[in-house]
Amino acid sequence: MPFICENVECRAVLARGQVKSNHENEGWCFYCPDCNARNELKDIGAPGSPVELVQPERSDLPHKVIATARPLEDGRYAAQLRVQRALSMKGTYAVEERWEQLGVFLDAQEAVAHAKSMATDLLERKA
Ligand SMILES: [Zn+2]
Repeated sequence: MPFICENVECRAVLARGQVKSNHENEGWCFYCPDCNARNELKDIGAPGSPVELVQPERSDLPHKVIATARPLEDGRYAAQLRVQRALSMKGTYAVEERWEQLGVFLDAQEAVAHAKSMATDLLERKA
């Protein structure tokens, strides 16, 4: 089983020989040679035997949330949201969901804040 980078924008598939595992205070991990993201590893070897590292199965796959405010003609701002979700398969696959207009706000920051809170709700609901 190769390792797969958990960075949603990278998702590199790495042969075991390509990555160097590190033992840090928080446990085992490797750093992706492509994007340098920290990826957690778990030692499933029996006590006393050589370490056997696997990538922990994750139900919470990484998400990337992009909240933006789009200026409207009347000077107000539409809250927009894009959520990229990594799929639990190897390769550089991610699905993207987008909402173009979640509400209209007088202030760009309010629009972004609204889009972010929508993202939080959404990800909690699906988790
Ligand atoms: Zn990576």
